[in-house]
Amino acid sequence: MTSAAPQDAGSLAVRVSAIGDQADRVRSFRLEPADGSALPPWEPGTHIDVHLPTGLVRQYSLCGDPAERDAYVIAVLRTPDSRGGSRYLHDTLGVGDTLTIGAPRDNFPFQARARRPLLGSLSAAVSPHVRGGGHAAESRTHAYPRPE
Ligand SMILES: Cc1cc2nc3c(=O)[nH]c(=O)nc-3n(C[C@H](O)[C@H](O)[C@H](O)COP(=O)(O)OP(=O)(O)OC[C@H]3O[C@@H](n4cnc5c(N)ncnc54)[C@H](O)[C@@H]3O)c2cc1C
Repeated sequence: MTSAAPQDAGSLAVRVSAIGDQADRVRSFRLEPADGSALPPWEPGTHIDVHLPTGLVRQYSLCGDPAERDAYVIAVLRTPDSRGGSRYLHDTLGVGDTLTIGAPRDNFPFQARARRPLLGSLSAAVSPHVRGGGHAAESRTHAYPRPE
């Protein structure tokens, strides 16, 4: 069993309550607040920082229903040549383990009138997202910067 890294202001301790295989090399993780409190609200397109006990910090987009306030769900692709982030989540993290996460953040705020998806300059991975939450469903493309 692993334990959460020390918490900063704005960070949250969560417990892994379920892990599921969603597709080839893609695994979902359900994260519930360790103290049972309600989680901060989020909108589709939001991501969280996941602080691993190894010291690595990786970002993952929130999936699922934003109305559900008792858990966040992330889906993680296991990168074949991972330096440790997705490899740790797939190979080491288990149900019952605790992690520290950051509060939800959105680097790509929704623009209802945008005609085209926004693309960043550099990407390590490109992932499609579908916006719901009261808006007409709209696909977006995220360009993720390469992690340090
Ligand atoms: C806002 C945001 C949201 C994200 N959401 C998701 C998500 O929902 N699901 C998900 O699976 N991932 C997501 N990611 C990506 C995720 O944060 C990690 O980058 C991913 O899991 C890989 O981490 P890793 O440590 O396993 O691999 P890393 O070791 O970081 O390697 C990733 C890839 O980059 C290559 N690489 C690493 N360093 C270098 C370098 N210096 N030069 C050239 N190539 C290099 C590696 O060879 C490998 O192919 C998101 C990233 C961001 C920024």
